Amino acid sequence: MCGIFAISGTDDQAGQKVLAGLKKLEYRGYDSWGIALKYREKNEVIIKKEVGKISNIDQEFPPAQEAFGHSRWATHGGVTKENAHPHKFGKVTLVHNGIFENYLEEKKLFTEKFLSETDSEVIAALLDKNIAEICTQKQCIFPLLAGEGEGEVDQEFAKKIIFDAIVKTVEKIEGRFAILVFVDGVDGIFAARRGSPLILGRGKNETFIASDIPAFLKYTNVVNYLDDDEMVWVHQGEAVYQNMKSREIIQKRDIEVPWKEEQAEKGDFPHFMIKEIFEQKDTIARAINHDDEELLKAAKLLENCNGAYIVACGTAHKVAMVAEYYFARISGRKVNVVPASEMPDFERFINEKTAVIAISQSGETADVMEVLERSKKKSAKILALTNVESSSMARLADVHLAINAGPEKAVASTKAATSQMALAFLLAYADAEIRGISKINVGREILRSTAGIINDNLNPRYEEHIREIARKLFPEEKLFIIGRGTLYPMALEAAIKIQEVSYIPALAFAAGELKHGPIALIENGTPCIVLGSDLETISNATELKSRGARIIGVATKNDEVFDEWIRVADCDGAQAIASVIPVQILAYHLAIFRGLDPDMPRNLAKSVTVK
Ligand code: GLU
Repeated sequence: MCGIFAISGTDDQAGQKVLAGLKKLEYRGYDSWGIALKYREKNEVIIKKEVGKISNIDQEFPPAQEAFGHSRWATHGGVTKENAHPHKFGKVTLVHNGIFENYLEEKKLFTEKFLSETDSEVIAALLDKNIAEICTQKQCIFPLLAGEGEGEVDQEFAKKIIFDAIVKTVEKIEGRFAILVFVDGVDGIFAARRGSPLILGRGKNETFIASDIPAFLKYTNVVNYLDDDEMVWVHQGEAVYQNMKSREIIQKRDIEVPWKEEQAEKGDFPHFMIKEIFEQKDTIARAINHDDEELLKAAKLLENCNGAYIVACGTAHKVAMVAEYYFARISGRKVNVVPASEMPDFERFINEKTAVIAISQSGETADVMEVLERSKKKSAKILALTNVESSSMARLADVHLAINAGPEKAVASTKAATSQMALAFLLAYADAEIRGISKINVGREILRSTAGIINDNLNPRYEEHIREIARKLFPEEKLFIIGRGTLYPMALEAAIKIQEVSYIPALAFAAGELKHGPIALIENGTPCIVLGSDLETISNATELKSRGARIIGVATKNDEVFDEWIRVADCDGAQAIASVIPVQILAYHLAIFRGLDPDMPRNLAKSVTVK
């Protein structure tokens, strides 16, 4: 789940531009980074790579019109300079996002020495070998192709050979990949994908290839999406696409994305996480900006099925759990919520009468995508809620609803989570409308007022109050969170937020469950965050307090059991959406007080495009 980015242009700034673009993709992986460029003067590939984050790097590169780079999230091989991408093998220079599952089998067949422990270098080796083999078969002189022989390289011929070699190489790969390739002596950049994302940005005389749009948003918002099993060759303003299975040439439609560069920048905020938390002032309203027809189309898909599963991972899985309550309460529908990685046992229940709902910010999450692909084969109906209009999930789904949150860069999801919840809430009302129980507009009104309340509440004074609580809590070694109803999954989500950015072990439970075991862990002064102030939750908080716990209430009204109180406005059925926001702010400030970078927590990456 790394970030990869390439430029083929006409000025000499390719190295500089790739460095800048990669910094915008760093949220996808930040173990190490590397850049390869075609040094114009000597017609050779130069590679620069380092362990660590790219964000602090500022350096000049030799003049080059074509370059690509990689920001790694290591899966195979430790975090070392040798294992950082790009990898060069023979005449092939390559970066890879994904996992080549059977790489050891293929690696064994080589006698050459490998410089890294990665699966990715084996792809470079295979490609290099396949180019040589195809040249032998075609009885063409390889050095000529590599630009070392007499006369000019026949670029058209070279391109065909490399396309053939890429196809031959990927046939051997089990797993997921997005690759970018330079071949010595051959103009342009080659790219191919299966499973991991790749998007082309189309400038005037420049073409960009990236794992995500923000990398090139500064230059263009016109994109082409590369689909699974497609490859492309780009050179300056030109791009030639081919399907790797049918070998047909593909004409791509130019799509204009509505994102602006500023949306993908921090602006005046010190971190993306806090910027994105504050963006919830208007993202909730944008999330529900769907007309009734679209919502009813999605809800009909559920109505026409006998069973429904929601599959998601991480924060989106907690959103899915909230959605389970929404459907139960609002439209009386039972949906099954399963983390995508746990679906295999339940897939026997999936058939053409099952609706599978995917929730994913990026629309690329590998675990979810695999469930969708298998469900589609069984003719299940697919509904996807994602933040990226043309993501793999959006394209695979029968119906896609965009959450319209704008680019989310911080690894810890905030605005995307609340937008997903808002949309799921509205969907439950659409379902209720079809069932004759309620009307979409009832739900829309609740959400409009929730969006207004959030807009009013999210201000510097509110943040300061929560920051003060964080100041007292940051040295703690453990923390508990409880909630009931929709606030139970929100307690789980609050725990994820605190764990991932502040590294404080945070444990969440359904409020009523605590006394069945975990209460044994409460000691004098143990901090417990209590979401909600209904009678039963308050009585659970009192049980904690009697064992010495220090209670931080996040609730619409204060209570004497609370040692600290963070106010949340009353948002009717949409309380979960409003209640998670103060905990996001708390998690952020816990990270800051502990001297951590909340945007790039250790061991994590955004968009988990590996299994
Ligand atoms: N599997 C490759 C590696 O570990 C690529 C990982 C990534 O996508 O960053 O180097």
